[in-house]
Amino acid sequence: MMPATTLVIRNGRIVTADARGTVIEGGSVLISGNRIVAVAAAGDRRIDAAISAGAQVLDAAGGFVLPGLINTHTHFGMTLFRGTADDRDLQGFLAAVWPLETAFVNAETVRLGVSIAIAESLQAGVTTAADMFFYPDTSTAVAEELGFRLIAGPTLINGLTVEHADFDEAFAAARTWLAEHEPGLALRTTICPHSSYTLTEPQLLRIAALGAEFDALVQIHAAENPGEMDLVRDQHGATPIEVLQRTGILEGNVLLAHAVHLSDSDLDTIEARFERSRGLAHCPASNMKLASGVARVPEILARGIAVGLGTDGPASSNDLDLFLAMRLSGMLHALTSGPGAVTARQLVEMATIGGARALGIDHLTGSLEAGKLADVVILAGSTPLAVGVDPFSTLVYSLSRAEVRTVLVDGVVRVREGVALGVDPAALHDEVAALYAQYPAVTAAAAV
Ligand SMILES: [Zn+2]
Repeated sequence: MMPATTLVIRNGRIVTADARGTVIEGGSVLISGNRIVAVAAAGDRRIDAAISAGAQVLDAAGGFVLPGLINTHTHFGMTLFRGTADDRDLQGFLAAVWPLETAFVNAETVRLGVSIAIAESLQAGVTTAADMFFYPDTSTAVAEELGFRLIAGPTLINGLTVEHADFDEAFAAARTWLAEHEPGLALRTTICPHSSYTLTEPQLLRIAALGAEFDALVQIHAAENPGEMDLVRDQHGATPIEVLQRTGILEGNVLLAHAVHLSDSDLDTIEARFERSRGLAHCPASNMKLASGVARVPEILARGIAVGLGTDGPASSNDLDLFLAMRLSGMLHALTSGPGAVTARQLVEMATIGGARALGIDHLTGSLEAGKLADVVILAGSTPLAVGVDPFSTLVYSLSRAEVRTVLVDGVVRVREGVALGVDPAALHDEVAALYAQYPAVTAAAAV
């Protein structure tokens, strides 16, 4: 008898996101426990043997089968702030949101915001996210419960006393977190210094050393909009990338969120220092909505720097949709750099294996290949939108998260028939309504 945990996904259009861009029509994925054992064409004897021996079978019915999507930059705890700070630039957005965070954010509101964000993400085919927000003990506990890979850790920022009284207290808590926290489903630990304009250079030096001591992923915003470039120039007399270079942040495993306004010299610095497990998070929806600018993604890709796609937080991009991010990125760079500046295949790769590279987890997830963890998305097959001759084009420019039917994380089914398991949306809506009634400042903010 086969072990009960053996699963075969068959009759799919398998987009592997491997190095050769392999697509297998009518293919199968064999999973044992939490690992992919084989990805193969119809008729493969390993697949047939597993089915004969009693493996569970999931029929993809001709639908696309993808690696779980990877959101490389977000703030899940901000879900409850949707609509409070629309139609502003980055500085206007932060000026609106930070007072609300001071008044409203606690472990309970984070639990609720993260629960909703994970339900949304899973139903959109996202299995991993790199998250920056307060109360990481709470957010990672929710993620473990719902079966989601949430790479979240302590946030470090001056001038915002949400979770800790000051930087030194937050830094001490971050050290304890890194020493004690087991990554579990998240696959790696992280710390989240907010930016070079909300931290001093001595603080960034300490953070770089702490990240290196624990081999943690250091997530930081960098070069997001012109206002930030001016702020950093005033505070440090340099570009954000220059500040991160001279404080040692770029020497470690760092994920740069946004990285929109890079000079040629900044790009040279990044290219020279970024090796495996370091990269950028490209967030086209947020960059467009906040009018932050256009990241130099075609050049960054040409230089071989790892790039993933991110949504940014649900208060600035207003959803957690990586299908939309793929499509917006393709159209944005076509408009600004010419048609095909970023191809559909590159866009699918950014949403999967590129994101895994940027987060330093590409040896574990990000593609459908034997030996990797079983993070898998199955889309509906019999939809008019699935008709098309190029699988990458169809995925990016025709299909959407509405076609997501089944999602596996670590070999476990977490979305069935398009619905995330383990969450009750009606109950979550009631809890949100009760919280808004308790904190009228949040709903009032939207009217300002
Ligand atoms: Zn952000």
